[in-house]
Amino acid sequence: MALQLYNTLTRRKQEFVPIDPGNVRMYVCGPTVYDYAHIGNARPLIVFDVLFRLLREIYGAEHVTYVRNITDVDDKINARAAERGVSIRELTEETNAIFQADAKALGCLEPTAQPRATEHIAAMIEIVERLLAAGHAYPADGHVLFNVPSMPEYGKLSRRSLDEMIAGARVEVAPYKKGPMDFVLWKPSAPDEPGWESPWGRGRPGWHLECSAMSWEYLGEVFDIHGGGIDLVFPHHENEIAQTCSAFGHDAMANYWLHNGFLQVEGEKMAKSLGNFVTIHEALKDWPGEVIRFNMLKTHYRQPIDWTLAGLRESQRELDRWYPLAKQFAASSAMLAPDFMAALEDDLNTPDAITALRRLHREASEQVALAGTRLASCGHLLGLFVKSLQDWQAAPLLFDKKQVETLIEARLQARAARNWTESDRIRNELDAMGIALKDNKDGTTSWEVKR
Ligand code: AMP
Ligand code: ZN
Repeated sequence: MALQLYNTLTRRKQEFVPIDPGNVRMYVCGPTVYDYAHIGNARPLIVFDVLFRLLREIYGAEHVTYVRNITDVDDKINARAAERGVSIRELTEETNAIFQADAKALGCLEPTAQPRATEHIAAMIEIVERLLAAGHAYPADGHVLFNVPSMPEYGKLSRRSLDEMIAGARVEVAPYKKGPMDFVLWKPSAPDEPGWESPWGRGRPGWHLECSAMSWEYLGEVFDIHGGGIDLVFPHHENEIAQTCSAFGHDAMANYWLHNGFLQVEGEKMAKSLGNFVTIHEALKDWPGEVIRFNMLKTHYRQPIDWTLAGLRESQRELDRWYPLAKQFAASSAMLAPDFMAALEDDLNTPDAITALRRLHREASEQVALAGTRLASCGHLLGLFVKSLQDWQAAPLLFDKKQVETLIEARLQARAARNWTESDRIRNELDAMGIALKDNKDGTTSWEVKR
């Protein structure tokens, strides 16, 4: 089966036909580097890494170019650097280093290129000049703005009319804007803000412009796939399309637009104010990156995902069961299972691909060597089974030993007081933590980790 991808542009699954199979090109919006990335940000990282791996499998590793930018100029960066009393460079370097380490720990391959916005200012200025020359932009009060009404197709990705957007958007009212939806391409910088000389004075780019410039430089005027989270459809991706199409005179920037759904935590929106905000960095202290990755892939990328401890535990147990078998076999491209590949080629259906892994594990347990080789090979394509069995099993325990012992002690006391409800409740709590209890004849209780 040929690869099918759901295209936000057409709102349907389409067969993927690259412009040039000798160089399949994908751009994904990367992080703004001012703080630790959170577990929601891990979703596009992992999802598009799987797509990158699948494209490499189909077209050959050397025939796929994957660009993920680093936004290192942004007002959030300026504010955070000032707050912390560090230089912008220090902040972006430090945050980027953490991000790179996070991505690696999550088992993501390095993209072909990770351009930084500040190293591509000349291309941004060139795009603004083209837009001005073509009447798609206008200078105003030290700014340059994109003239939205100059582009009749504006809104085609998000499928909103201009009137709806104006009604629905919290549009920034600025006296220098001619139209309410016009957005900033270039803005002036105060002396203490980062800035670059330009025909419009010293200033800095708007966020949307960064991606138009970097994708152009690395992938050309029109490329195959553009990805990001669903929140980026409007305005970010709509504005990227407006800039790139108007500057280069094509009616497409990318042919396929892919968006991952949002992640929430234990049924609630993740927010610092709700106290359920999890950084990738923190999550990696509790769970192997591979467990986080596997847990993420159990949900189809376009669906919302509910991130729960129970889900992570189950993912850990499942990998624990598979590892000893999978590591007995060598992974090979030639040994990918047809139903596994069919699932991935159906708009990256990783839940179905994982169902195929479960079947392979079952068969491999019954001594079918072919299934074992397939399990290893398919797992490898998803970025699983990367550790040696020894390293996997030596992973730190996922719970606080002292807490377990305190709970066991409380349970013994409850039993002594014949409070069976409480003693059962504690047993269940421990069970949910993956701890199995064994009551001994001498009145003591021992425990073990359920692997
Ligand atoms: P940001 O740093 O907010 O621009 O986000 C970086 C990437 O993570 C973008 O592709 C976002 O769409 C994506 N993203 C942000 N929050 C979430 C979330 N809760 N769930 C899934 N993706 C997210
Ligand atoms: Zn972008």
